[in-house]
Amino acid sequence: MIKKLILHCSASNWGDVEEIRKWHKARGWRDIGYHYVIQNRYHTYADWRLRNEKWEGGLAGIVQTGRAENVQGAHVKNHNENTLGICLIGYKYFDKEQFYSLIILCADLCKKYGLRISDIKGHYEYDKNKTCPNFNMDSFRNLMKISVSEMQTKSITTPDDIYDLIAGYFQYKLWSETYQEYAEKENDYA
Ligand SMILES: [Zn+2]
Repeated sequence: MIKKLILHCSASNWGDVEEIRKWHKARGWRDIGYHYVIQNRYHTYADWRLRNEKWEGGLAGIVQTGRAENVQGAHVKNHNENTLGICLIGYKYFDKEQFYSLIILCADLCKKYGLRISDIKGHYEYDKNKTCPNFNMDSFRNLMKISVSEMQTKSITTPDDIYDLIAGYFQYKLWSETYQEYAEKENDYA
C-alpha cells in the first residue's frame, strides 16, 4: 500500500519518460525508476538546442506514466517500498504548468491512497546528500494545502488561479516565462 509520495527533479533541462527510461536502463535497471514524469516545455534535446533560435518549446505540464503504481519504484534509497516517485523535468527552474499538474496529481493520489499532504516528501528529506527536487518542500506542502482547500470551494478553476498562488508561496519564481529566461538561468547552475 502506498504511504508516501516522493518528489524528484530530473536534473536535466529536457527529457521525457522514454529518455529517463533509457538513462535508468543504462544503469542496469529493468525500467524507469519513477512512477510519473511531469514534462517541461523541452521534450527532447533538439527542443532545448532550438530555444536560442526563438523556439519556445512544446506544451509543459504533461504528466507521463513510468512504472505502474503497483510496481515498486527505484528512486529513493531504502524507501522504495510503499512509495511513489514523481519526477519533474528540470534542474532548479520549472514551468508553472508543471506545478499545476503536480498539485492536481498529488491531490488525486492522496485521495486514492488516503494520504495527507504531510505524506508528500522531497527526495532530500530522505537523503541529506541530496537537494532534489530543488525546491522547498515546506513551501510546496503549504501551497498544496491552500490549493486543495481553494479547489474545494471552487475559487480555483483555471491554471491562472493557481499560478498566482504558486507565486506567493515561493520566495522566488520557480519557473521561466520565456526561452530567454531559460537561457539566462542555465548560467545560474552551469
Ligand atoms: Zn531525486
